[in-house]
Amino acid sequence: MPIDATEPYDPNNIFARILRDEIPADIVYEDGWAVAFRDINPQAPTHILVVPRGPYVSWDDFSERASDEELAGFVRAVGRVARENGFVVPGYRLLANTGPHGGQEVPHLHVHLFAGQPLGPMLA
Ligand code: C5P
Repeated sequence: MPIDATEPYDPNNIFARILRDEIPADIVYEDGWAVAFRDINPQAPTHILVVPRGPYVSWDDFSERASDEELAGFVRAVGRVARENGFVVPGYRLLANTGPHGGQEVPHLHVHLFAGQPLGPMLA
């Protein structure tokens, strides 16, 4: 069910529980600002979700409420996940579904990182 990107933050959403180590995930990167783990239903040879540690529902919420430090820390973390996995030269794709038209399902901001093959003009 797509979510409303302006709804209040639910501290028990599934990604919040992964951040608190309450449920398992295949974590590939962690720093003070973000955690990255493999998507359980990959849509590309590599499909990683990068999640800020802070309580943000959506890209809209994060870009509006996060401090400059959090914004910078998260953006750098996304870049590092791609760089550390060797995706910079072959290339990769980032996607942040937002709200119902974006098809966002999990109400904690996450950036999808797709890589590992030419991805074509757009993912469905
Ligand atoms: O952007 P959207 O909210 O639609 O994407 C949610 C993503 O989270 C899906 O790709 C889904 O496979 C993934 N997911 C996951 N682990 C979970 C629950 C969802 O990787 N436990």
